[in-house]
Amino acid sequence: MYPVCTLRLENTTQQPILDRLENRALRTRVFQASVQRGNHDGPNDTRTIAGRLAQLRAQKAKLLGFADYASYSLDDQMALTPQAADRLMTSLVPASTAKAREEAAKMQAIIDREKGGFALGPQDWEFYAEKVRRAEYDLDESQIKPYLALDRVLQDGVFYAANRMYGLTFKERHDIPVYQPDVRVWEVFDASGASLALYYGDYFARPNKSGGAWMDSFVDQSGLLGLKPVVLTVLNVAKPAPGQMALLTWDNTTTLFHEFGHALHGLLSNVKYPTLAGTNVPRDFVEFPSQFNEHAALDPAVLASYAKHYQTAAPMPPALVEKIRKTHTFNQGYMMTEYLAAALLDMAWHTMPWHPNAAAALGTPPPGTGPQDVNTFERTALKRFAVDLPQVPPRYHTTYFSHIWGGGYSAGYYAYLWSEVLAHDAYYFLEQHGGLTRENGQRLRDMVLSRGGSEPVDQMYRRFRGRDADIEPLLVERGLKAATPAKR
Ligand SMILES: [Zn+2]
Repeated sequence: MYPVCTLRLENTTQQPILDRLENRALRTRVFQASVQRGNHDGPNDTRTIAGRLAQLRAQKAKLLGFADYASYSLDDQMALTPQAADRLMTSLVPASTAKAREEAAKMQAIIDREKGGFALGPQDWEFYAEKVRRAEYDLDESQIKPYLALDRVLQDGVFYAANRMYGLTFKERHDIPVYQPDVRVWEVFDASGASLALYYGDYFARPNKSGGAWMDSFVDQSGLLGLKPVVLTVLNVAKPAPGQMALLTWDNTTTLFHEFGHALHGLLSNVKYPTLAGTNVPRDFVEFPSQFNEHAALDPAVLASYAKHYQTAAPMPPALVEKIRKTHTFNQGYMMTEYLAAALLDMAWHTMPWHPNAAAALGTPPPGTGPQDVNTFERTALKRFAVDLPQVPPRYHTTYFSHIWGGGYSAGYYAYLWSEVLAHDAYYFLEQHGGLTRENGQRLRDMVLSRGGSEPVDQMYRRFRGRDADIEPLLVERGLKAATPAKR
């Protein structure tokens, strides 16, 4: 008798559990179970539904006077058109797929050295990538955590950077009601000494709390109603035992900077209408301030201020900092390619023109969207965009891509990447002009962060940067291209 073990699938194509399954036949079984979701005859077959959804959306767009659903959906986004989003994504394909091929070759060499006798497949990627990670990118969290005490990261890191760039100061208030005793509140003051906002921090995990991390707003800033913002960031860090200090992982640390970047968007808002305040901006712009603020975590001046041993106050050793930097480039060929494949697939489905077949409106899928055609459509699209690497499937296949069919990200999966390009481009621009200085912070605040969605965000960005964003900083950050010193 063997004990029965259930392996649960994650929603993505790639399954994290595969990094520790030694048995290749089992890896193949798990992987197949993942990619075949919704792709069988029976009650869970989503193929026809996906094709029909795409057609109904195309029809809706046509009724509203747009060429296709993506054109309708992107009309109020920064990208404006699906062609612009596709252009950005396809410009990243060559470097991303070249890197993925390089990563695959490295793993194939390990397989051959071990006399595995097989060609690397998608089911093997996690397993061999983990070997590469342990050999070349291993980050021992137990070495890092003593330098990342929550309070220090918050006060001497996150708040310090906000002071350096935007002149903000934070005074903890114990007299303001909170919804849970662990929640803390700070009053935020501007450089002039004027009270600007309230900031709530809810950092510890609790059994009845949703997982993950996010920013939210209790009160949106409003010039019209004379309201100051009340903004919240939520994390799920394990709560330390009484008397102990909470020590963060590197991932927690960047998440805190990220969520605080959203918070700054809310705190610094200075618009008339609350519906346009803070983070009320297009989806492909909203992650720009947060991803930009992630850079502050590794900025030399900021890092030197907060990354100190919680007992001895010794600074984090440079070798450890270098290791952290290096981990940002691990497996990025794969990650970019699987993302691009999914995002381009999303755009392909939503640029499908409406098929003028009356049957579509009556519930019968028109020709071109039958169960088999859905897979053909997907294959053709991935090939057309040159993201059809056999070892790197899209992050989601059509039949279980819930973000785009049911999760509100239809024709919007590209948005994360669009924002990320802006974030890196903006950070490199500031780096060339003195870094995270008060002057640069004021520029970002005046031209972007204070303006919410009160004017077209592409204009805001262009005014701040002097031109459109460039993809090169993103390629460098993700290790897909070597940094040219002049450009940095
Ligand atoms: Zn975010």
